[in-house]
This record gives sequence, C-alpha cells and structure tokens, in this order.
Amino acid sequence: MALANDENKDLIERDLIYSIWNQHAVVDAAIGTIIDYGSKDRRKDRDSYAEMWKRWYYDDYYRSYLVPLEKYGLKVPHDVVEDAWRRISDDFYHHHVAQFFATGWPVNYWRIDPMTEEDFEWFEDKYPGWYDKFGKWWEHYSTLSEPNGHKPIAFENSGYVYPHRCWSCMVPCLIREDTVMDYVDGQWRTYCHKWCHWQDTVAYREEYKGRPTPAMGKMTGKREWETLYHGWDLADIVHDLGYVRDDGKTLVPQPHVQFDQSKMWTTDNVKGIEFQSPNILLNEMSDEEREKHMEEYKQGFTINSSL
Ligand SMILES: [Zn+2]
Repeated sequence: MALANDENKDLIERDLIYSIWNQHAVVDAAIGTIIDYGSKDRRKDRDSYAEMWKRWYYDDYYRSYLVPLEKYGLKVPHDVVEDAWRRISDDFYHHHVAQFFATGWPVNYWRIDPMTEEDFEWFEDKYPGWYDKFGKWWEHYSTLSEPNGHKPIAFENSGYVYPHRCWSCMVPCLIREDTVMDYVDGQWRTYCHKWCHWQDTVAYREEYKGRPTPAMGKMTGKREWETLYHGWDLADIVHDLGYVRDDGKTLVPQPHVQFDQSKMWTTDNVKGIEFQSPNILLNEMSDEEREKHMEEYKQGFTINSSL
C-alpha cells in the first residue's frame, strides 16, 4: 500500500490536511446552511448540523476510521480536524455563512425567506448564544424583505461588514478574527483561516518539502467573484447574470417567498447602487491603510439595534 513506501508519507500527509480542511470549509458552509436554515422542521429532537457532524464525521469517520490508520504509519492531522470542529461547535461557522448567503441575495439564484419566532427558538436551543450574534440581523432582514423604498440589506446600514473572500476555499472570511492577509503572487490576498493560507502558499505549489509536485495546480484567476463586477451598477449586474424574469425587470432572487407581484423586487429597486470588490479595494490601499483596515476587520462588527 501507499504507506509502505516512505517517500509517499509527506505527500499523503499534505493531501489529508488539505482535503479535510477544504471539505470542511466548503461542504460545511453549504450543507450546514441547507440543513439548519433550509428546513421548517423545528422539532427540538431533530438533530442540528453540529450534532450530525459530531456523530458522523468526528466520532464515526475521524475517530473510528481515520485514527486507527495511525498504526500503519499514517500521520493524522488531529489539529486540522479539531480546528474544523471548533469552527462548527464554537465559532458559528455555517451561521455566518447563512447570514452571508442571505446578505448576497440580489446577486444569487436563490430565495431565502425571513425567519420566524419558531426558527429563532430552535436555533437558540441548538446553538446557545445564537440570538445575541444573529437574531437582530435576521430581524433587520425581515424588515427589509419587501421593497419599500429602501435598498437590499447588503447596502443598508445594518452594521454588517461585507466580508473579504478566502482565496483558497472561496468562502468569505467570516470568522473575522481568523482572517489571514498576505502578499502572494503579486497581490494582497485574504484567507479565512491559517489552513487556507497554507493551501495557497505551501500545498498548491510546484514543490512540497523539496519534492517537485507539478500536478498540484495553482489557485489563479479571479477567485474573488466580486472582482468581476467592481464599480458596476447593481441593476446591470443582475441583467448580466441573467437573473431577471421574462418581464425584463422582476428579479429572479427575492429575500422572501411571497408570490404577490407587488412585493417583488425589480431592477428599478436596485438601479443606482454601486457594487464593490473588497479585494480590489484592499489592493488599492496604502500599506498603512491596509494594516489598519485588517486590524479593524478582524475585530468584527456590531449589528445596529435599529436601522
Ligand atoms: Zn478558506
């Protein structure tokens, strides 16, 4: 087997780290949000995503399957698994993702409806402390869900700071204090965690620990989606994306699931709003401004009590 040959060990160890971390960063973001937020089943005995993760990933896959492979010489990256688990259990990872998905509704092909009291109770029961972190923002989301002369929530002053995007996993840097900023391949990049920083700067490179790794590929191109629309008018973006219905003006995405035409957002409601790329802005800053900006970013934000 692969482990019988010593020269494979470094690469297997590297592959385990980036596959475990990347699966966590991307899959837990999407599936965690769908399972916890995309349900109307608020029975308290229904497992939350964190409870499922603990049972199926941590106890079953990690402790029952992966850890026993150590006796064959495999070096299991325990700290990577623990960091992933901590992001889910302590740092509200996929809750930040759900908030971000809902924030970005005008430029995504989905509809996320406002939450109810029953939803709030379920989240607080499953994730103690949830309301203090997210409740007020979801109340603002509800207030702003029908077009009444205001802008979409991302462009209103809720206190939320639109996030930088992680260059490696391409999920934004949502656990703000974990954000890593670095100058890599001629540009300033942001990463959601030290393991994502490691992926771009160490794992996906032409060599690993002195050994050529030409097949690893590279994280190049426009990895921050917002870069493509920096400075555009929001109405032009939704047209360009094809997110406009057959009448030529009603948006496909809506921040609610009501079907009354008078409650639908149209391009008229988003015209004149300028869209910006956090990464382009970051690269345009002076060194001093950038350091200060990142220091503030890592401190997080406070949601305003009223809009
Ligand atoms: Zn990341």
